[in-house]
Amino acid sequence: GMNFGEWLYRASIFLVVSCPCALVISVPLGYFGGIGKASKFGILVKGGNYMEALTKVDTVLLDKTGTITEGKFSVSNVQPAEGVSEAELLDFAISLESLSNHPIAKSIVKYASQKNFSVKNILVYEEIAGKGVKGMVNDIVAYAGNDKLLKDLGISIPEVPQIGSVVFVVAGGKYLGYLVVSDTIKESSVEAMKRLKAAGIKEIIMLTGDKKEVGEAVAKAVGVDKAYTELLPHEKVEQIEAAKQKAKGVIFVGDGLNDAPALVLADVGVAMGGMGADLSIEAADVVIMNDDLVKLSEAIGIARGTQRIIVQNIVFALGVKAVVLLLGAIGIATMWEAVFADVGVALLAIMNSMRNNA
Ligand code: ADP
Ligand code: MG
Repeated sequence: GMNFGEWLYRASIFLVVSCPCALVISVPLGYFGGIGKASKFGILVKGGNYMEALTKVDTVLLDKTGTITEGKFSVSNVQPAEGVSEAELLDFAISLESLSNHPIAKSIVKYASQKNFSVKNILVYEEIAGKGVKGMVNDIVAYAGNDKLLKDLGISIPEVPQIGSVVFVVAGGKYLGYLVVSDTIKESSVEAMKRLKAAGIKEIIMLTGDKKEVGEAVAKAVGVDKAYTELLPHEKVEQIEAAKQKAKGVIFVGDGLNDAPALVLADVGVAMGGMGADLSIEAADVVIMNDDLVKLSEAIGIARGTQRIIVQNIVFALGVKAVVLLLGAIGIATMWEAVFADVGVALLAIMNSMRNNA
């Protein structure tokens, strides 16, 4: 038989080993390691839950302008309407666009100011989401925007032979002409799509408010699976809802002010840290500091590596504890082995988590 002292010793071993310290520490610490590693790669992940979500995604939706493309437009053509001077067209264009943060607006302001046009007295100003802008320029109600805007104003849409995003200008109910601006695709966007596919992403979908011809040309050039064009901001959100129904996890990548609702809705919202609007960076779960889409597959890789380490820690901690508990129960384990199974395992789990960040 066993005396009381021996029972007490075995019970104490049980008590020491069964402390969940290693288990409780290793999961959050594993995520911290992963978040630290991602930050070294210029990827800001705002929490462990997004790390976990990143391991599950199989569908990626991306905004076009500023995300797949540079978002740095340049004016490639200026076409005043009949009987309108270029000066009149540019005067209104620069004044209306001077208050907008849209990349298209910035390119028009830059172009007009290089030609020595300056902003006129603009009073009331309003952004019309996915369509353009409205303002009072020298007491005249004026608009700059796309064909949807013209349609809303009841003005017939003129033929534009060039490829590019078109900004029509209307003042005092009169059509003044248009400007064509074009954007360039980011150098690394093609490579980024290939790597997402290699990382096991099933479907890559481009969403844009831009014209069909422009959107589809970009989609073809970078190699996305699907492209939805001429979307209003709320229609982008609907596309994400639809994708969430089918997918295990959805990433949305965007940069614009209008992208904030979509960023919130997606399982993982990713914003561009450089080009991105403050509101989109705020709304996002992950921020890519240098705006390079290749970082997206890197983030997925880091998240998966982090998850592997966390699983290793859990299996190791539970395994060692189970063995020592068993040995303790039949009287083989010593208190020193019990201490190892608790503090030792916790330390090893911490070191394993740090390995990720090394
Ligand atoms: P995207 O980022 O996909 O272009 P947006 O919703 O930001 O989507 O814009 C959609 C479209 O609305 C643009 O392609 C452009 O035609 C028009 N638009 C938006 N803002 C402006 C602006 N400030 N000036 C002229 N057109 C604009
Ligand atoms: Mg945008």
